[in-house]
Amino acid sequence: MIDLVVRGDAVVTPQGVGAFDLAIAGDRIVAVAAPGSLPVLDGARLIDATGKIVMPGGIDPHVHCKWFLPNPDGTAGLTDPPDIVSRAAVHGGTTTIIDFTRCSQGASVQDAIARREEDWKGHSACDYAQHLMVEGALPVTLFAQLAEAIQAGFPTVKIFTTDITPSRKGRMVDFGDIWEVFQVLAANGGVGVIHSEDNDIVMHMYGKLIREGRPEFVNLAEVHNTLSEDISFRRVIRLAEQVRGTALYMMHTSAASGVSAIREARARGVPIYGESLHQYMLYTNEDYRRPNGQIYHTYPSLKSVEDQAALWAGTLDGSINCVATDEICCTLKQKIQGARIDDTTGGNAGVEPRVALMYTEMVGRRGYSLSRFVDLVASNAAKLMGLYPRKGALAAGSDADICVLDPGDRRVIRAADLHEADYTPWEGRQMLAWPCLTMLRGKVVMEGGRFLGGLDDGRWQHRKVASEIISGPCL
Ligand SMILES: [Zn+2]
Repeated sequence: MIDLVVRGDAVVTPQGVGAFDLAIAGDRIVAVAAPGSLPVLDGARLIDATGKIVMPGGIDPHVHCKWFLPNPDGTAGLTDPPDIVSRAAVHGGTTTIIDFTRCSQGASVQDAIARREEDWKGHSACDYAQHLMVEGALPVTLFAQLAEAIQAGFPTVKIFTTDITPSRKGRMVDFGDIWEVFQVLAANGGVGVIHSEDNDIVMHMYGKLIREGRPEFVNLAEVHNTLSEDISFRRVIRLAEQVRGTALYMMHTSAASGVSAIREARARGVPIYGESLHQYMLYTNEDYRRPNGQIYHTYPSLKSVEDQAALWAGTLDGSINCVATDEICCTLKQKIQGARIDDTTGGNAGVEPRVALMYTEMVGRRGYSLSRFVDLVASNAAKLMGLYPRKGALAAGSDADICVLDPGDRRVIRAADLHEADYTPWEGRQMLAWPCLTMLRGKVVMEGGRFLGGLDDGRWQHRKVASEIISGPCL
């Protein structure tokens, strides 16, 4: 029994873009058919998306909700919870977001997972999943728990190779422990999702700039620099190559040196994939000098025009596979409260405009195909994070997670019109399309800018990464 048909003339399917009818029964797509070839029975709704773009719902594989936010005075707060971030995601055509569970926040990994689920269950308007974050000196009991969690649907493990700032000691995992985690990943079909910077270089530069009386945040690119990304990426990759079957996803790649390290490893057959962030694609360290320049920052740091060009080139040669946000949803006051290299707030608000912004930049301004754009904002994340083809595809059997983008809606982004934070790093940007409808598992949760969903719509997603992703670079 078909409940709903979405008819479009630019429907982005895994087989290509064209005119199709998507038939939806319950929460699934049950057929992708020639227009008009399916019977739309009484009681079924026909959504006519002619002239619009029909694509899988966006997937943001890197968001932080209800997240520890250090203040410059040493106290800490929490960023906005899933209640707000997931709703903003839905407004922007994103239907799945992946956050982080800190394994240290429980008696065991399993306990930490159960506690984190309490933050999400009944608090999310979109579907969600969790990366497992390991930090600091890893207890020997952790490895067996990680293996169990990977098998239970949490196949991605976040690892830091740096403490990021001098005040955040306790995040960095040493290379011996990373080696042990890689063995667990390889044996269980997991993927290492890495925050990779060379801690020695980064901490050396903090000391040097503070000594030289140059602690202003505009100098962040000197601290979290391209040399650090070069050395650290290559060291992590070298370690992974010693543990056969270790797949890597390099989070927030920011520099040409990182892109090169990924590209060269892929040429050797290493199963490695790159993520960059929307702000790294579109801002440089020169933007730190603009008013409230902290709003463009997230760690590691914005880099040069040349680095930015390398990130874009990476989206064409396969070394950059996903564009995420590193969402940290907080107020402008919190985002700009730190103004030093060692206390500037990281992360960025952007889960809502990400899909439209990337459509504008990729399809509108750079001539990317609709398929490549959809790969970069949805399908590749689904594949790498173990959600495909349930998510990230308009295909029979897939969840009916759909974003309809309207190229007739050429709005200018204003923070006041968005549903996250009280600022946006994209203020004043002209868009070339905007989502006019979002569907989550067959339910229309946003239409014409009106939120029609609920905070109990979102479901945790069991994930399993396909063996092709792990056996070699396949995207
Ligand atoms: Zn992050």
